[in-house]
Amino acid sequence: MLLMIPGPIEVSPAVIEAFSGPPPGHLAAHVIEAHGASISQMRQVWKASDDAQPFIVPGGGTLAMEMAVQNTVEPGDTVLVVNTGYFSDRIGEMAARRGATVEHVRAEVGEAPAVEAVARKLAELQPSVVFATHVDTSTGVRIDPAAICEIVRGSNALTVFDGVCATVGERFEMAEWGADVYLTASQKAIGLPPGLALMVASKDAMERRRALREPVPMALDWDQWLPIMQAYEDRRPSYFSTPATSHIVALDVGLKEILAEGIDAAFDRHQTVADAMRSAWSSFGLELLPGAGLAANTLSAVRYPDGVGPDLVGEVKARGVVVAGGLLPGWKPTYFRVGHMGYSATRSDHLVKTVRAVGDALIELGHPVDVDAGAGHIESVFA
Ligand code: PMP
Repeated sequence: MLLMIPGPIEVSPAVIEAFSGPPPGHLAAHVIEAHGASISQMRQVWKASDDAQPFIVPGGGTLAMEMAVQNTVEPGDTVLVVNTGYFSDRIGEMAARRGATVEHVRAEVGEAPAVEAVARKLAELQPSVVFATHVDTSTGVRIDPAAICEIVRGSNALTVFDGVCATVGERFEMAEWGADVYLTASQKAIGLPPGLALMVASKDAMERRRALREPVPMALDWDQWLPIMQAYEDRRPSYFSTPATSHIVALDVGLKEILAEGIDAAFDRHQTVADAMRSAWSSFGLELLPGAGLAANTLSAVRYPDGVGPDLVGEVKARGVVVAGGLLPGWKPTYFRVGHMGYSATRSDHLVKTVRAVGDALIELGHPVDVDAGAGHIESVFA
């Protein structure tokens, strides 16, 4: 069965190999080396400056979001959420639970808030943090983080971007754009199984943490994790909470694979593959949920054609490929989602099998398509 949902994803043979065998202890020399090397490599993959601080913490994307919120927000703050769907709602809820006044700037489903609308809210509210979801996995909409950083620059607000469905698959220039937190999880384009929360915080974000008057929950506190990250980067073991040792060994391997290709090359590859997938869907007469120019490169959110519905997902699975249904409440029965990030975005056979399975399933459900033509869009990219 081929896993083509927008995370978790198929992972490379080298990552599987790194995971195999009994779990190493956190004091093993190769774990210390992998931990330290991963921290430094994250700065390169995030395109972050030398004074930015990476964190590797057992958990997932939701934990990374919670850590970012708890360390940058305190009760009484006003924060702004550039809202593109399900995961933007989630980070807004987290900030509200932390005691902040949360304002959202929203758009129609499949659209992104206009930069001018964000600028107006910024001027009106003077928020302490602006949150945005780089790619909202529920709708496949990608926002423009550079434009948000640009308008926030010069204000006192920090920018926090949820890159769970984007990091490595979508261009992100943390230092160049001046973003303050870019967070992700291991199970998407980073190319590992689920299990790690990963984030890089700017110097300004770290200073915000130090300036908070309200305590941060201990397990989420950057101040608790900082000496651990610093020690490992100096290749010294240190203990606060047991590191996810097997994951960290695999993370080092995964990050080395990304850097061997080159992060810019990885961004470009995801763009090329996504264009080919979009051409395939279009040749099947399918339309995307995201509006023009807003479709992410890490996944496709595709509307069911007339006469076809969520049965499609089961028909695709019967052909050996797992794709995902819709996620957005109220819109679930109208679209499906296909991941094309990380390792599978290097494998024409994965992509062709997926396009063929969707095409054959559409035919089965009474929507005739030219399956070879769809597959041809992928094959021509890899030829
Ligand atoms: N943010 C985004 C954009 C996501 O896609 C996801 C997971 N699909 C999350 C956050 C939450 O990550 P996790 O499921 O690992 O908690």
